[in-house]
Amino acid sequence: MTMPLVNEAYLNLIPYVPGKPIAETERELGISGCIKLASNENPLGPSPLAVQAMAEALRNVHDYPDGASYYLKQKLASQLGVASDQLILGNGSNELIEMLVRTCVRPDEHVLLGECTFVAYKLAAQAAGRGVVEVPLTPDLRYDLQRLAQAATAQTKMVFIGNPNNPTGTYVSKKELDAFFDAIAPDVIVVLDEAYLEYVDASDYPNGLNYVKQRERTVVLRTFSKCYGLAGLRVGYGVSDPTLIDYLNRGRLPFNVNSLAQVGALAALDDVEHIERSRRLNSEQRTRLTQELSARGFAVAPSQANFLLVDFKRNGGDLFNALLRRGVIVRPMVGYGLVQSLRITIGTREQNDKLLSSIDKEL
Ligand SMILES: *Cc1c(COP(=O)(O)O)cnc(C)c1O
Repeated sequence: MTMPLVNEAYLNLIPYVPGKPIAETERELGISGCIKLASNENPLGPSPLAVQAMAEALRNVHDYPDGASYYLKQKLASQLGVASDQLILGNGSNELIEMLVRTCVRPDEHVLLGECTFVAYKLAAQAAGRGVVEVPLTPDLRYDLQRLAQAATAQTKMVFIGNPNNPTGTYVSKKELDAFFDAIAPDVIVVLDEAYLEYVDASDYPNGLNYVKQRERTVVLRTFSKCYGLAGLRVGYGVSDPTLIDYLNRGRLPFNVNSLAQVGALAALDDVEHIERSRRLNSEQRTRLTQELSARGFAVAPSQANFLLVDFKRNGGDLFNALLRRGVIVRPMVGYGLVQSLRITIGTREQNDKLLSSIDKEL
């Protein structure tokens, strides 16, 4: 055969490596009682209101979902103060990242990224066969927005800014983002990924929706996977200008958000108490873990999210495996070039106790 089997772009594509599942770890190591602090999931679980709503909706799974996600969009629109046609729902915000690149970035254009940011941005560009330009973060692991704006060329079509950023947990301030928007050409689509918005305490944190109001080619991405505790349902959303949303919808799979996900997310939006409890626990434990780990001499990046990037100043892969044997799953950072660091999701008080005592026994 002379015809290549697959698209050129797929020849060197490296798949996304998810956090190691609890069941797999327990099976492989022959242990039980593992805790997973590897995927930034909500340690309090899903909203009870969402669980109840989905249980009732189970009897209707023979029906196709509402392809337009009408009720979920209505509720989101009213909560966010935007119009329904400014919203698009995705199979997780991950799908929206992929859709944005596929829909907007032409073969001669590229995507501008920070180094050491969410790997899904780069994977989306690579799968679409589009180029990527990466700009280093600052030495204290924050987006260097000045440098990012300077790196933009006439071929730059889209830029992703995770705020807060994964895997560093750091954020950019309103002042920094204002200056970035002043410096970047209006042609560039700026995607503000706010997956961890609910966890932010910083008073100078900029709400991305304010930029969507003022500038057409701006997109805000949010998700139900983190603070809302619904990662398994796969639902996230994007907010932007109706024209861009319309184009995204043309290429969207008809039933990309399943019926249980729609019902669960809708109910979760009403569960203010669950969000508040999740936020409070995280904020408290984030302060505690940052202090405890810093006191042990490790470098902890200042986090506004529900995880910490910790430089343990020794081989991160070895420590990852040692913690695994003690039943604590965290995230190695070799893929990001941070060979001495681990990313640790902030758990419940008890989970964090186990994490700290496991670290103490190892080191
Ligand atoms: C977890 C995460 C997401 C959300 O992914 P989903 O597909 O919605 O589960 C998006 N962006 C970043 C930076 C994340 O860390």
